[in-house]
Amino acid sequence: MNFTLTPEQELFRKSAREFALKELEPIAADLDREHRVALDVLKKLGSLGYLGMTVPEEYGGIGADMLSYILVMEELSRSCASTSTAVTVQNSLCNTLLVEFGSETQKRKYLPELATGKKFGAFALTEPESGSDAAGMKTTAVPKGDSFILNGTKRFITSAGFADIFLVFALTDPSAGNRGVSCFLVERHTPGFTVGKEEDKMGIRGSSTCELFFENCRVPRENLIGELNRGFKVAMVTLDSGRIGVAAQALGIAQAALDEAIQYAKERKAFGKPLAEFQAIQFKLAEMKTKVEAARLLVYKAAWKKDHKLDYIMDASIAKLYASEIASEVADEAVQIFGGYGYIRDYKVERLYRDARITRIYEGTSEIQKLVIARELLKD
Ligand SMILES: Cc1cc2nc3c(=O)[nH]c(=O)nc-3n(C[C@H](O)[C@H](O)[C@H](O)COP(=O)(O)OP(=O)(O)OC[C@H]3O[C@@H](n4cnc5c(N)ncnc54)[C@H](O)[C@@H]3O)c2cc1C
Repeated sequence: MNFTLTPEQELFRKSAREFALKELEPIAADLDREHRVALDVLKKLGSLGYLGMTVPEEYGGIGADMLSYILVMEELSRSCASTSTAVTVQNSLCNTLLVEFGSETQKRKYLPELATGKKFGAFALTEPESGSDAAGMKTTAVPKGDSFILNGTKRFITSAGFADIFLVFALTDPSAGNRGVSCFLVERHTPGFTVGKEEDKMGIRGSSTCELFFENCRVPRENLIGELNRGFKVAMVTLDSGRIGVAAQALGIAQAALDEAIQYAKERKAFGKPLAEFQAIQFKLAEMKTKVEAARLLVYKAAWKKDHKLDYIMDASIAKLYASEIASEVADEAVQIFGGYGYIRDYKVERLYRDARITRIYEGTSEIQKLVIARELLKD
């Protein structure tokens, strides 16, 4: 593994940083306060190619490697994790799923608009009674003529408030457990499909999270993605790689918390000198930096292995587990360095502390990452 980035990867990082500083940094606190999605900024990200990072050029993407996408995610997340949540769902979950499992017709029909932000996607696996145990889903899809009839509820679906296309998992053979799941593409205005209210969240408040309801919703057979009853594999393979995107988001949040803490420690005085001159604060900063760098290497390694077509499943889980855990720790220390100011909404570290928390939960909780790592370690 090479520890330097290629000139192209450096360019992705630099341009994403510039975009984030210009377009996201000034509005991120407002999005959080007003519980508002920056749809205009997401569209700009789409027009610049950031929503089709790894989609091949023939389907309207920019055909970049995974590591370039990860660098973009990291840089956007440093400024606004809410917006990067929609970016990761679009790239990692929707596009990747269609590239990997869509038919040629489905790819040509949907990818060009998703990759350029003309349309937005959502990935609907979780239900009110099944999250980690995804195979415990209750939503059904029953064949009828040239269609499937969907009934059920999905919960906590990112980007649902504005998405045009929903990748929905449902049971097509309820007696077969995870071998009876299929994946369907449902367009927003399909009769029998409704999107519920926005959830009032602790963090990433500038992202959209809603419930979905399917009541005798007729989906044409041609919208089946991948093979019938093989949808669980579709979900798991997609999430394996999606985790690297969330890990990069956590890394970006942690880096932002470190940046804020360094700056504040230099400016804030106590007992007649800057905080940065107290060794107790220096040690905190040193530990934060060490954690951020360790997370960075793990996240980049997982992306690099995917780019090199090596088995990256365990690496993706290790990266997600570690980066998300340290994002919470580093943001917590940043709040501590800010003292009382860190507890006040006007300061970015307060938002980073809240935003970091979700990365330990979605796309597989930390406990589920440990299960994946252990399974990989112990397999024959
Ligand atoms: C803001 C937000 C956005 C989301 N976006 C999406 C989305 O776009 N699409 C989507 O499909 N889902 C989405 N989710 C759902 C998310 O992926 C789930 O919340 C997550 O997988 C956990 O599922 P759960 O909430 O049902 O918790 P549960 O599965 O009920 O878990 C509860 C606790 O038990 C632990 N646990 C469960 N099973 C085990 C086990 N076997 N061993 C040890 N511990 C275990 C978990 O780690 C957790 O700590 C989102 C959630 C949130 C909050």
